[in-house]
Amino acid sequence: MLELSSGGDFVNAPSSIIAAIATAPGRAGIGVVRVSGKNLHQFARQLMGKVPAPRMATRSGFRGRDGESIDDGIAIFYSAPASYTGEDVLELQGHGGPVVLQMLLRRCLELGARLAEPGEFTRRAFLNDRIDLAQAEGVADIIEAATEAAARCALRSLRGEFSAVIEELVRQVIELRMLVEATLDFPEEEIDPMDRTDAKNRFKRLHAEVWRALERGRQGSVLRSGLQVVLAGQPNVGKSSLLNRLVGEDLAIVTEVPGTTRDAVRQTIQIEGVPMNVIDTAGLRETADKVEAIGIARTWEAIARADVLLLVVDARSGVTAADDAIIARLPTRLKRVTVFNKIDLAGKAARADEGAEGWRIHLTAKIGEGIELLRHALLALAGWQSSGEDVFMARERHLTALARAGEALARAEAEMARPELFAEELRLAQMDLSAITGEFTADDLLGEIFSHFCIGK
Ligand code: GDP
Repeated sequence: MLELSSGGDFVNAPSSIIAAIATAPGRAGIGVVRVSGKNLHQFARQLMGKVPAPRMATRSGFRGRDGESIDDGIAIFYSAPASYTGEDVLELQGHGGPVVLQMLLRRCLELGARLAEPGEFTRRAFLNDRIDLAQAEGVADIIEAATEAAARCALRSLRGEFSAVIEELVRQVIELRMLVEATLDFPEEEIDPMDRTDAKNRFKRLHAEVWRALERGRQGSVLRSGLQVVLAGQPNVGKSSLLNRLVGEDLAIVTEVPGTTRDAVRQTIQIEGVPMNVIDTAGLRETADKVEAIGIARTWEAIARADVLLLVVDARSGVTAADDAIIARLPTRLKRVTVFNKIDLAGKAARADEGAEGWRIHLTAKIGEGIELLRHALLALAGWQSSGEDVFMARERHLTALARAGEALARAEAEMARPELFAEELRLAQMDLSAITGEFTADDLLGEIFSHFCIGK
C-alpha cells in the first residue's frame, strides 16, 4: 500500500517529480495519473519508450520495470512552461480501475517520482507564476462548489476576474502614493498639490471601490459556505414535506456534503444558489448501537457549528412542550425560524414576521402557500442580497485583507492634512490588497491554503 507523506513539508518540493492519481477513487471508464517535474523526457522514455509530441493525445502502452505492460492508454505531454504547473507535465489516461491506476502510480514512483501532497500541482502553478493565489483558491473552490451558482462564481475567480479587480485597486493605490510623494517633495508650492492632482477625489473613489469589493466578496463567501440549518420538530408536522417543497423542481439539489456520506442526517438544498446544509435532529436519540452513536456525535458537532434553527410546528397546536424540550438541548445562540405549517388546516393566512424570538412564518408545505416567505427569510439570514452575477468567490482571508485595506484608507482619510501619515496608510492598504493575489504571502499561509486541496490537483 502506498503511504502519503506526512504533509506540510514543501521545502525541497519544486525540484522533484511528483505524481498522483488525479481522478476520483472508485471505478470509472478512464482514470488519470498526473506527473509534474522540471524535465520528464527521461521519465517518459522509460515509461512509454518515447516522449509524446507536446499537446498531442498519443496512444501508448505503459510499461513496468521489466518491460511488461501495465496498461494501454493515452498520454498527453505538456512541455514546460506551457503546462498547468509551468513544469513538464504528463497526463497518463489509463483504465479507471483502482488496481490498475495504483499499479501505474507505483510505476511512476519507481521511476523517481514521489507522491504529490494535496494541492501540490496547483501550488507549483502558483510558485511558477502560472496563476496567482486567488486563482489557485478558485481551483479548489470550483471543485468543492455545492451549487451551480457557487461553481460559476469560482470559475470567475479562477479565470482571474477577482484578481483583476484587486490588481486595479492596487494600481490606484500606487498612483495615489506617487502623487502624495510628489507633495512631499514640493512642500512650498502655493496650490495644494493634493487639490491640483485631483488626489482627494481619486482617493474617495478608491476608498468606495475597496468597500464595494468587500461587499461583493462577502456575498461570495455566503455562496461558498452557505447556511447551516438545524431542522427540528415533532413527527408528522411536515418537515419532509417542507424540505421537498424547498427543493422544488430544482434538480441541482442534494449533493452529499464531502466527508459526510455515511451520515444520513445531512442534506444540502439550495435557495437561489445559496447552499443550505440541513441537519436533521430526528436521528438524535439514546442508542447502544456504536455506528449510530458515531452518527449522532457527528450530528451534535454539526449543530455546534450551525447558524439557524428551523423549527417546524403544526399551526393548529403551535410550539409544544415537546418542542421546547428539543430547543433546550440546542445552542441558544442559534437564530430561529419557527414555521407554523398546515395553515390550510388551521384556516390561517400565510404571513411572516420577525420578532425577538426570530422569524415566525405561517405557511403550508403541502399547497406551497407562504414558501416564498420562508425562502426569503433564510436568504436574509444567510446575508444574501445579490443576484449572484457580480459576486466574488471570496474566502475569509480575502475578506480580512479587504477590510484591513478599507480601515487603512479610513485612517488615511483622517490624515489627509499630514502627507507623511497619509502615505504610510496608503502603503499599508497596498500590502493588504497585494496579499490577496499572493504578492506578499508568508510561506506558512501557503502551506495552510494548499493543504486543503485534494491530492492530484
Ligand atoms: P414529518 O414527519 O415532519 O417529516 O412530516 P411529513 O412531511 O411526513 O408530513 C406528515 C403528513 O402531513 C403528511 O401526510 C403530509 O402530507 C401532511 N402535510 C404536510 N404539510 C402539510 C400541509 O401544509 N397541509 C396539510 N394539509 N398536510 C400537510
